This record gives sequence, C-alpha cells and structure tokens, in this order.
Amino acid sequence: MNPRSFQQLSALTVGLALLLISQSALAHPGALWGIDLSSVVALRDQARMAAYQSADAPGERLNRVQTIVLDPGHGGDNNGAIGVAGIREKHLTLELAYHLREAIQARYPDVRVVMTRYWDTSLSLPERVHLANLAEADVFLSLHYNAAVHNRAVGYETFYLRPADVTPQPPEILGHSHGEDASPIEGAGLVGQHGDDLVFIQRDLIRANQHELSARLAHSVQDGFRGHLDSIDRGVKQANFGVLRGAHMPAVVVEAGFLTHPEEGSDVIERAHRQRVVNALLDAIVNFDAELEQVLDDQP
Ligand SMILES: [Zn+2]
Repeated sequence: MNPRSFQQLSALTVGLALLLISQSALAHPGALWGIDLSSVVALRDQARMAAYQSADAPGERLNRVQTIVLDPGHGGDNNGAIGVAGIREKHLTLELAYHLREAIQARYPDVRVVMTRYWDTSLSLPERVHLANLAEADVFLSLHYNAAVHNRAVGYETFYLRPADVTPQPPEILGHSHGEDASPIEGAGLVGQHGDDLVFIQRDLIRANQHELSARLAHSVQDGFRGHLDSIDRGVKQANFGVLRGAHMPAVVVEAGFLTHPEEGSDVIERAHRQRVVNALLDAIVNFDAELEQVLDDQP
C-alpha cells in the first residue's frame, strides 16, 4: 500500500474510532467533550506505526527500549509548583511531555510513547505507575519542575527510589483511587504487541534489575542535562517517591529546573529551554538504551 492510501486509511480509522468513542462517551465519565483523548492518541499511534512498518524507509531504531511512558507531573486539581512567572508546573510538564513525545517519535518511529495524561486531568500516583506497568513500559519518566521555599535553589536533578522502597504495589490500591479516571489506562493497551518470548525474558531481567537500571537511567538523564542545560547539576538522588513505587521498569523523577528561582523560573517557561530539556531527555533515552543493551547482553 502506498503512503497516500495509508494516510487515507488512517484518517478513516481515526474517524470511525471517533464515532465509536463518541457513541460510548456516556459510558466513560472521564471522557472530554465525548472524546476519550488518550484513545484517539493511541489510535494515531497505531496508524503511525502501521505506516512506518509498511514503509521501506528503515528510520532509526533503539536496541531495547520499545515503550516509553511519560508522566507529566501533577494535573487537574493538583497544580504542582507555581513559579515566579506565575505559571503552574502542571501546564509546563504537559507541554514538555507532548514535545518530548513528538521528538522521540520523529526520530524513532517504531517506539511507542504513552503519556499518563493528555489533558489537564487529575491522576493519582498509583494510577500513573499502574498505567506504566500496564503499558509494559521499558522506561518511565515522571516529568517535573522544582520549587523551594527560598529563591536561591537552582539547577536540575533526577531521583530514583531507595532500594528499601522498591516494593510491589499493594493490589488493593490499583484502580480504586479514582474509578472515573480509568480512561488513560484503557488507551495504553491499544497499541503495540509484545507477544514473543524474547521480550518476556527481557522484561523479566529488567524487573530483576529494576533498581540498578533506575540508577543508570537517572545518571543518563543527568548526563543529558549536563550536555544541554547551562545550569547547576544537583546530581542523582534517591528518595521515596510515591510516583515511582511499584514500577516494574526503570523509573525516575526528572526535575528540569527551579520555577521559584528568579532567573531559572523565567527561563523554564521559554520555548528554547523546553527544547534543550527535550534534547537532553532524548540523549538520555538513547544512552540508556545502549546501556540496557549491554546489561541484557551480559546476562547468562
Ligand atoms: Zn512536581
């Protein structure tokens, strides 16, 4: 099939899906204007991947990372930090996630990028992790901007869980905190097939090494920031973050800059700064993918 007929088919698929989704909107109280945005985005992913797989152009590929879950911090009732420029963290993180998603998919068309939220919606921390687990993500990035009570704090830092806190999520938490917000989780299951044995084995190994790999991912992020941001490297830190607890995959909290710092707080709302953060995180993903390849190759 030529690319043109694929585009037409894709448009038809999305149109049909929109119709079906709007028909079932009453059954999905989380849907917006009758449209379940995450399902629409997931369908767009399906169309994009189908077009990519049928095309002869090979494009670039990652070795091991096939699914990335981006978690735009906060959202809905939860504004996150409010910066010197008056902007809310929840809006900045969503902007960043959309742009990072675009950048990843432009360079690696066959990588699946799922977001935990596509709109200004409230989402509990366990729901974010649950979504990443359901999506069988290879990488989980929770995106944030920082705040401090005094305005001198400046720079970027990345967190991963302390070993003692890497515990499986209690099953009773799952899916019960906001029943009406289940739509993004449904959207996650729509694309990607990971049926072959090799992928299952790989995933087991990644789970077994989750803590060590999270540390490597965190260092990759800091390296990426160092290469792109002209700010202070506050380093890789370990903490007990709810949004990382129960994640089956390498998972980190990224703090891309201080909203409360007089200069950095104005910088981070600029498009140029966001692009630097996107480039830094793209580099981080590429480097981490190479490390993952090495770790998995070294396994007996
Ligand atoms: Zn935050």
